[in-house]
Amino acid sequence: MFDLSTPIENLYLVGPARAKLLKNLGIATLEDLLFYFPRAHSDLSKFVNISELKLGETANIKAKILEIKSFRTKVRRLTLTHALVEDNTGSILCVWFNQPFLSKVLKPHEEFIFSGKVTVAKNKLQLQNPVYEQVKAEQIHTSRLVPIYSLTAHLTQKLLRSIIKTYLDKIHLPEHLPSFILKAEKLLFEDAAVKTFHFPKDYSSLQQAQTRLAFDEIFLTQLRVAQYKKSRQEKTGIKMTVPQQLNDKIASLPFTLTLGQKQALQEILSDFQKPYPANRLLEGDVGSGKTIIAALSMYVAAKNGLQIAFLAPTEVLAKQHYDNLKEFFENSGIATALRTSNNKSKPAQVTFGTHALLERAVKFKNLSLIVIDEQHRFGVEQRSLLKQTNTAHLLTMSATPIPRTLALTLYGDLDLSRLKELPTGRQRIITRIVAEENRSKAYEFIAKQITAGRQTFVICPLIEESDKLGVKSATTEFKKLSEEIFPQFKVGLLHGKLKPQDKESVMQKFKDNQINILVSTSVVEVGVDVPNAAVMMIEGAERFGLAQLHQFRGRVGRSTYKSYCFLFSSDPLALENPRLKVMTESNDGFALAEKDLQIRGSGDLYGTKQSGYDFKIATLTNLDLVERSRQYADELLNPDLSLNSYPLLKLKMHSQPMVHLE
Ligand code: ADP
Ligand code: MG
Repeated sequence: MFDLSTPIENLYLVGPARAKLLKNLGIATLEDLLFYFPRAHSDLSKFVNISELKLGETANIKAKILEIKSFRTKVRRLTLTHALVEDNTGSILCVWFNQPFLSKVLKPHEEFIFSGKVTVAKNKLQLQNPVYEQVKAEQIHTSRLVPIYSLTAHLTQKLLRSIIKTYLDKIHLPEHLPSFILKAEKLLFEDAAVKTFHFPKDYSSLQQAQTRLAFDEIFLTQLRVAQYKKSRQEKTGIKMTVPQQLNDKIASLPFTLTLGQKQALQEILSDFQKPYPANRLLEGDVGSGKTIIAALSMYVAAKNGLQIAFLAPTEVLAKQHYDNLKEFFENSGIATALRTSNNKSKPAQVTFGTHALLERAVKFKNLSLIVIDEQHRFGVEQRSLLKQTNTAHLLTMSATPIPRTLALTLYGDLDLSRLKELPTGRQRIITRIVAEENRSKAYEFIAKQITAGRQTFVICPLIEESDKLGVKSATTEFKKLSEEIFPQFKVGLLHGKLKPQDKESVMQKFKDNQINILVSTSVVEVGVDVPNAAVMMIEGAERFGLAQLHQFRGRVGRSTYKSYCFLFSSDPLALENPRLKVMTESNDGFALAEKDLQIRGSGDLYGTKQSGYDFKIATLTNLDLVERSRQYADELLNPDLSLNSYPLLKLKMHSQPMVHLE
């Protein structure tokens, strides 16, 4: 007896040795095995007449064995098996190496199907190492669309195929999708889809099978996030009121809020007035002004007597937010504190810090709002920890502009506010790929900018010269720039391995314009705000991803000064690098994200991997499908949050099987 959860070692045909091999592929249960999908199919669906075989093709013939013999070669001592086979149109020799048992299996006068590569020897065509299969009602290794699996050493296609086929024939997968969805989407049953995906009759049925399985991936994800979202809405949160002083606070800012900022703030405030904990993502391109929206939201919570934590991914950033916002709060009588590994002050009403703030040792009295800056920089685990343990309101921010389909899927459990435009008065940042021979011109340009009062970032991929690739390291670059190129200017060095105090003091000096040129690694990637900086120079630019480059560039152009981004590379081909070219063509994070999707495919687009979701069949470019799935999820969950009327669906939701497609 077996069912989907039976461990593979208990399956007939498998046993302990083979189970070990299968486990290398991530297959532990029968369910995993059945959902281990082929990475491709080899089209052997047509028979070819022997007289029509062509050199070099992989062909499929149906032929009778005339004679067969195995023998040892004198040289190299191989065992060869020769079988002469014929059909109505002619004959051909099949040749195998080191499979002496074949002459026992393949008997003269019997008919087999052979498929293999047509090669030539002694001026005659032959089939080399063909796969053979007896003529049966249903072929699985030949004369069809034959599934090709990703393998591991010592496991053959033929063996894996046979095991999978055996169990596909023995089992019926119960249907978990409600019939109204199957009908509306015109989907195959899962049972048929899985069986067809492995052994399709033709390409169009293969396509139908993939459609069904891709639907499952998207729909089950939507169902999970929708269920999470709804269960959050059943928790009790702290209801706030909007204080009268808010308008004065807004009026006292040195700028007027953009329309998008006003709308986002409105959305956050309406979350706060609901009886359950908010969980909102504020998304806006680099420089769109997310921080002030967070600050105003924190202000509201503080005026409601609540305690607030503001988390940043790095100490540099935490300190920067604290410095910039300290007065904003203290002017209104709200106490602030900064807590980092370097600075263990007690939480105040508003506490800034890194994720270390959430450790148990840190005691809050009534932590009710958590703001997370650059949330994509926090790991999946940190985020899920937050999700589970907190009934506090959650406001996360991200400058990662992802296409809407991805946003709905990856952040489907969040409410989404978007800042679509930048504050007015910003100028387009001029971006150029600079060839090595123009390096000195770039340095002259930087010198002029500094003389005019501006500041410059120089980003390097590494801290120390650690490889032979000639990749620039921050330390050597710092030495070169400070001693040889710009001895007349103040050059500073910032990287992740500096002591926290040193990091702080370098950043402080850069902010105060006591450092003209800051040489740094990717620690300045996110959030760093020094409006006087107008040049961003990136060494080894081809080593960074598009999202990261865009983030670096976002460190300049943060005020009204005309700003520049120079991309350098030790690789002469960089001038043609599509990623770098795209940077010179667009300043818009959303447009870049779409381009990235085109260049790279949806694979690891903007950190979908970090999100913890892994789509094997579905592509997330089908917005309609994502939205329909979401509606179905709502339809099911609204009357029945725990899906008690759909036990099979409930089960499926919690046991998403491994799906492999390379
Ligand atoms: P990000 O969205 O990348 O976190 P910030 O919040 O750091 O951007 O804002 C970038 C800069 O724009 C800051 O110096 C901020 O003071 C300024 N800023 C924010 N909102 C406005 C606005 N409405 N008008 C003008 N400047 C603004
Ligand atoms: Mg920011």
